[in-house]
Amino acid sequence: MIFIFLGAPGAGKGTQADMAASSQGWIHLSTGDVLREEVAKESDLGQAANEYMSRGDLVPDRLMVDMVAGRLAELNVDDVLLLDGFPRSRPQAEALAEALKTRAGGSGGVGSALYFRAPESVLTARLLGRGRKDDREDVIQNRLRVYSETTEPLVAYYREQGLLVEIDADRTVEEIQADVLDRIGAVLPH
Ligand code: AMP
Repeated sequence: MIFIFLGAPGAGKGTQADMAASSQGWIHLSTGDVLREEVAKESDLGQAANEYMSRGDLVPDRLMVDMVAGRLAELNVDDVLLLDGFPRSRPQAEALAEALKTRAGGSGGVGSALYFRAPESVLTARLLGRGRKDDREDVIQNRLRVYSETTEPLVAYYREQGLLVEIDADRTVEEIQADVLDRIGAVLPH
């Protein structure tokens, strides 16, 4: 079963997915982490993605969908996958739904979309404190803009499907983690 970690840059999705995956034996797929590895390896994908990432723009949907489809194909039926940073656009969300529908064997569907909410001032402060290459002030502003224009509409998309779970991400890491484990546990088959 798949759980989508949705929310603005700096909302803490990656930290939360990492903690949950390591304590529960789940799989954490961060598309941003995979892209950063590809950039470091200077692979074809990394070279294609690099300029978009350094500007804080989205990497084209086609590249992202191919990358995630490849990972989905490797899943076992009872794996729990935490999808962190994907989908990030309507076409990506539709491609994910399509891939899950047509998968032979099946990895289960989307269990829920966890939407991490925090005020913009908190997001900016966290990003500036992190010091990643794309955490410069101008790039951060662009990433937040791209998020609100292209990714945030997915909140309504998943809400309409009855899959949205809102998480208050302006709390301590431990409080948020307890909530995350509760919300996922409530959906997983026993
Ligand atoms: P993240 O680590 O999730 O903040 O992602 C870092 C950067 O990788 C983003 O600013 C995008 O340039 C790129 N990226 C990661 N995931 C995606 C995605 N699903 N679609 C497009 N670009 C992505």
